[in-house]
Amino acid sequence: MAETTSAITPENIPTDKDHALRPRNLKDFIGHEELRSNLGVFIKSATLQSKPMAHTLFYGPPGLGKTTLAQIIAREMDVNFSMTSGPVLAKAGDLAAILTKLDSHDVLFIDEIHRLHPIVEEILYPAMEDFALDLVVGSGPAARSVRIDLNQFTLIGATTRLGLLTTPLRDRFGIHMRLEFYSAEELLKIVTRSAQVLNIDIEVSGAMEIARRSRGTPRVANRLLSRVIDFAIVENNGIISDEIATKALDRLGVDHEGLDSTDRKYLTIIADHYDGGPVGIETISAAMSEVKDTVEDVVEPYLMQAGFISRTPRGRMLTSLAWKHLGKKPPNAIKDLFSSTNNET
Ligand code: ADP
Repeated sequence: MAETTSAITPENIPTDKDHALRPRNLKDFIGHEELRSNLGVFIKSATLQSKPMAHTLFYGPPGLGKTTLAQIIAREMDVNFSMTSGPVLAKAGDLAAILTKLDSHDVLFIDEIHRLHPIVEEILYPAMEDFALDLVVGSGPAARSVRIDLNQFTLIGATTRLGLLTTPLRDRFGIHMRLEFYSAEELLKIVTRSAQVLNIDIEVSGAMEIARRSRGTPRVANRLLSRVIDFAIVENNGIISDEIATKALDRLGVDHEGLDSTDRKYLTIIADHYDGGPVGIETISAAMSEVKDTVEDVVEPYLMQAGFISRTPRGRMLTSLAWKHLGKKPPNAIKDLFSSTNNET
């Protein structure tokens, strides 16, 4: 397949599966049609004007393609790509060292940009706006400010929490792009492409089963595919059929809605200990022995989008879909049942 061979060039066969599966060009990036075509315009316009691409902010839950898109932009612009992450940059000097090394039009990707230290963030403002660094040299009365010019670069920020970004930082990005969960059809294409890249035989129904249970997330789809491949190799001559996919996913504890044991634990805690809510995020995280950020960034977005929970000012609540999925009755329904039985007698 032309698409597959273009994704892995012969001289650059990656050993890491995840790296191999990452789309390298905009045309290989599946789904998000509008975002993709808009990005194509921005990249082309910048290239035609011999300018760096505008600073770009990607936001959305993990595993939806933010890093992938940042790398694609650098490749399509034919510039270098450097990557760092908000929490790693402890001092202003850490970021200054990276910025001064950038060549003209290079892409700098900062993951988890909402976790930048305020002192580091201060450095970023003039760097983004004027391509300059304002540094304080010396201390006390001898301290003075020096301005260092930088090459014109593109900053690409990624965050799972747009709300935690300060307004001045958010406003300095010319392009804001939100990544949404993928449809089962889009994930089907991703699973099929990944199987081709990995040279694995997969039936459409088998790929669909993986796509349906992937929580709308390409990273999950690729991870589940890898595990299903293990089962297929050991038990089905390496061929992924509907049956082997279903069996493998069931054994991995991923149910028909794509929920895993962590999701079910989350829902069960609210059902069993808090009568379906409302209950606060701190209480749920403590009961699950999970970090609050993980619960908020990884567990909840999909449960919310799939309609299993709702967020109210007083906390999280289970929806009727969640009760049905757990095979339990909501306490109100039990009460209603009682009152209607009492009324009848
Ligand atoms: P994020 O940075 O949002 O956490 P990544 O860009 O690291 O997510 O994507 C995770 C994995 O999912 C990548 O390795 C890539 O293989 C795959 N992926 C993400 N988006 C797509 C897509 N649109 N098409 C194909 N594969 C994708």
